[in-house]
Amino acid sequence: MIRVTENFRKIQDLLAKAAADAGRPAEQIRLLAVSKKKPLEAILEVAAAGQRDFGENFVQEGLEKIREAARDDLVWHFIGHLQANKTRAVSEHFQWVHTVDRLKIAKRLSEQRPHYAPDLNICIEVNIDGEDQKSGVSADQVSDLAAAIGDLPRVRLRGLMCLPAIRHGFDEQRKPFAALRELYESLIAEGHDIDTLSMGMSADYAAAIHEGATIIRVGTGIFGAR
Ligand SMILES: *Cc1c(COP(=O)(O)O)cnc(C)c1O
Repeated sequence: MIRVTENFRKIQDLLAKAAADAGRPAEQIRLLAVSKKKPLEAILEVAAAGQRDFGENFVQEGLEKIREAARDDLVWHFIGHLQANKTRAVSEHFQWVHTVDRLKIAKRLSEQRPHYAPDLNICIEVNIDGEDQKSGVSADQVSDLAAAIGDLPRVRLRGLMCLPAIRHGFDEQRKPFAALRELYESLIAEGHDIDTLSMGMSADYAAAIHEGATIIRVGTGIFGAR
């Protein structure tokens, strides 16, 4: 049995330390616990320790956990690759989608978001290293996609997300996050009312915090290896 509560406390401490080192208030940084492939039992244990935001990568797995948990105090973030035929379930049951990479997906999420629900929070996923095998828009497509999403009802553009190539060393790790922050700042200069930089995972969240991350997505560091 891995001690997820202990891991969770440790990550909270490390988040606070990284924020202090970066000269930022820790309250600016939201910890997203990435629970893919982990049982609901582990999620509920971390929830009992005070965690509220959980990230899931697979639609069916996420829906099952959301239904079984039946907790309206938890906030569910979809962070996996989203296919067009799965948008309805995601739009109906999640509060956030971090991985919008084309207008078609954003339009479907907008059309399918239930009218009784608050606006769905969405981030544009940027393929910040231009890797062939990864999803996400290229840097030069961000501005047009953001403008188009800004016109859609029932979804609210919150910011940008990235999943960079693996790098070693703090200074190297900072580079793609700095690039995403520049794109984020250019969207703000274009008049977008956004507040979210979703970047950094177990191995590189300290570097992301130094570059302005407002959501870090931590799986292994809390739940152990998958
Ligand atoms: C799995 C995953 C994470 C968490 O990764 P860890 O290295 O386990 O912290 C974060 N973001 C995305 C998009 C993921 O798929």
